[in-house]
Amino acid sequence: MRGPYPRTADAVIVGGGVMGCSILYNLALRGLAGAVLYERHTLASGSTGRSQAILRTHYSNEVTARMAWQSLAAFRSFEETVGVPSGYVKTGYLLIAANEQRQALEANAAMQRGIGISTEVVSPREARLIAPALSVHDDEAVAYEPESGYADPYSVTAGYASRAREMGARVVTEAEVTGIEVSGGRVSAVVMPEGRTETRTAVVAAGPWAGPLLRGIGIDAPLRTVRHQVIMLHRPRGLPAHPIVGDVVHGLSARPDAAGLTLIGVGEDEFVGPDEYNQGIDAAMAERAFAGLVERVPAMSEARLRGGWSGLFTVTPDWHPVLDRVEGVDGLFCAVGFSGHGFKLAPMVGAVMAELILDGRASTIDHKLAATLRLGRFADGGLLGARYGMSVLA
Ligand SMILES: Cc1cc2nc3c(=O)[nH]c(=O)nc-3n(C[C@H](O)[C@H](O)[C@H](O)COP(=O)(O)OP(=O)(O)OC[C@H]3O[C@@H](n4cnc5c(N)ncnc54)[C@H](O)[C@@H]3O)c2cc1C
Repeated sequence: MRGPYPRTADAVIVGGGVMGCSILYNLALRGLAGAVLYERHTLASGSTGRSQAILRTHYSNEVTARMAWQSLAAFRSFEETVGVPSGYVKTGYLLIAANEQRQALEANAAMQRGIGISTEVVSPREARLIAPALSVHDDEAVAYEPESGYADPYSVTAGYASRAREMGARVVTEAEVTGIEVSGGRVSAVVMPEGRTETRTAVVAAGPWAGPLLRGIGIDAPLRTVRHQVIMLHRPRGLPAHPIVGDVVHGLSARPDAAGLTLIGVGEDEFVGPDEYNQGIDAAMAERAFAGLVERVPAMSEARLRGGWSGLFTVTPDWHPVLDRVEGVDGLFCAVGFSGHGFKLAPMVGAVMAELILDGRASTIDHKLAATLRLGRFADGGLLGARYGMSVLA
C-alpha cells in the first residue's frame, strides 16, 4: 500500500522508463519543479531495462536522425550535465545492406550529412579495414558512423530521476496509475487505487501499457506490442570487440558488451500482449540469429551462448513515436510508440516534450519537423516513410 500521494502537482508523468524520467528532468530544468512521476514498479523496469541501447543515427527520416544526433551529444556529456555516467561506449556503427538497398542507404547517409551528422558511405574493403572480423561482400552497401555506440539505460534513467529530484521534482515508485480524470474537457487528476493527485497536466509515458491507459479515457492510439529477443554470446577468446553492426541482410543488430559478450537483437513481427509474453529467448530464434551472425562475423562460429531475454517494442503503424498533446483533452500529452529505437532519442524526447508542455511547441528541433510526430498523422495519412524493410530502421 503506497501513499499518501501529493494532493496536487504542476504536472504528473505516468511511467518511469527512460522517457518519463527524461521528461521529468527536462521539466525541472525548465523551472517546473513541482512535477510528480508515478512508476508502478521500479524505474526502468519496462522496455528501457531490456534495451540493447544502441545509439546510431542512420534513419530514413530527418526528424529522428536529428533527434538521435542531438541525443548522442547529450549522452556524451551526460555526466557533466546530469551528474552520473550515461555509460556511453564509442564503438562505431556499420549499417550493411544488400546491393538492392544501396540507393536507400546512400539517400539516408546524404540526408544525415546534410544535417551535420558524422557518417560516410564506405566500400566493402574499407568496412573490412574498419572491422577486420567482418565478412562484407563486394556487392553490399555500407554506411559507417564513427561516433555511434551504446549506453547504459538504467544509469541514464536513474540519473535523470535523481537529478530531477534534486531540482524539486518527485518520483514515486510502486505507484500504479489506474486512470486520468477529465472534467470539462481538461485533465483534472491522476488516480491511483489508494489516492489521487490533482493536476492540470498529465503526460502518458507508459511504454507498452500506454495503449490501455489512453483507451481508459477514450483515446484510441494505434499502439501494438512486439516481442524482440536479445541473444547473448561469449565471443571466442582472442576475438576483439567489433563495431556495432546493423545488418539489414540478415535482419539483426549486433553490439559488443562488456566482459567479452556480443548481444544480437532479432525479431519484429511477433505481436504479443504486454503482460503475457515469453520474456526468455527461443532456441530456434537463437540458432537462426547465431547462423546469421556467423555469416557476418565468421570467427563467431566458436562463440558460446550466454542466454538472453526478450522485451517489448511499442509500435505505431510507421514505427515512429508520437510526441504530442492529445486533441480534445486539454492538458493531456503523450510520448509513446518508440518501437525498438527510442532509447537513442530519449534526451531529445524529454526536451521536446518539455517544450510542448511549457511553450506549446517544440524549439530544440524545428517545430514543423517535430509536428511530423503528431498523433493525428495516423488518421490524416501523414505517416512517416521508411527506406528499408527492416522496420526498426524506419
Ligand atoms: C529488446 C529491446 C531492445 C531495444 N534496443 C534498442 C536499441 O538498441 N536502441 C534504442 O534506441 N532503443 C532500443 N529499444 C527501444 C527502447 O528501449 C524503448 O524505445 C524505450 O526504452 C522506451 O522507453 P519508455 O520510457 O517509453 O517505456 P518503458 O521503459 O516501457 O517505460 C514505461 C514505464 O511505465 C510504467 N507504467 C506503465 N503503466 C503504468 C501505470 N499505469 N502507472 C504507472 N506506471 C506505469 C512501466 O512500469 C514502465 O516502467 C529496445 C527495446 C527492447 C525491448
